[in-house]
Amino acid sequence: QKIVIAIDGYSGCGKSTTARAVAGLLGYIYIDTGAMYRSVTLYFIDNHVSLTDPRAVSKALEQIDITFHYNATKKVNEVYLNGLNVEKEIRGMDVSQKVSDVSAIKEVRHALVAQQRKMGKSKGVVMDGRDIGTVVFPDADLKIFMTADLYVRAERRQKELLGKGQLVELEEVIENLRSRDEIDTSRKESPLKKAANAIEIDTTHITFEEQIELITNLATS
Ligand code: C5P
Repeated sequence: QKIVIAIDGYSGCGKSTTARAVAGLLGYIYIDTGAMYRSVTLYFIDNHVSLTDPRAVSKALEQIDITFHYNATKKVNEVYLNGLNVEKEIRGMDVSQKVSDVSAIKEVRHALVAQQRKMGKSKGVVMDGRDIGTVVFPDADLKIFMTADLYVRAERRQKELLGKGQLVELEEVIENLRSRDEIDTSRKESPLKKAANAIEIDTTHITFEEQIELITNLATS
């Protein structure tokens, strides 16, 4: 019987990579909610939307259409902003530096949470983010909360960015993860926190394969 799996945690813990692999193994749909907040941020940057002007924010949100489409070659779901594939653009440091400020805006969260609830209606879904087990799907069948040492997370993220052709100093990556965690945990609107019934997994000393096995076992037991 298919279930809903919510994976939350700090930035750069490997949530997306793990969630994608778990979904692949279970034959589930994977939804990367961070990609949605990143797409909104990209739109706001490109269109110079003022984050402190609620009317401008609401107007911009009406112009934004976010969808996921399966890339059969890469075997992954990719995010589209108003019909354009923005997978590459949303992973850059400029979006990473602004995304937590954009995600703290109430109107942004309301719009995206509503869409996420619709997408997760059918079971057989793995969704990762910051508020999935607490706000989006408080009744999720399995909730995971991922943590890892900041330095280890930064090294992994730096390597991942390098793989995408982006050379970023380790210090800059550490600073970005630290500042996003700070904004995400202290914002007023659905702050990042572990759901009461979430299972915490510290990935500092375990491999990617072990993380996947652990969650897949929990999902099928
Ligand atoms: O998951 P990822 O690191 O790509 O998310 C980017 C940012 O989007 C996070 O740092 C957080 O500010 C925001 N986010 C959020 N709620 C989610 C997913 C992401 O606030 N469910």
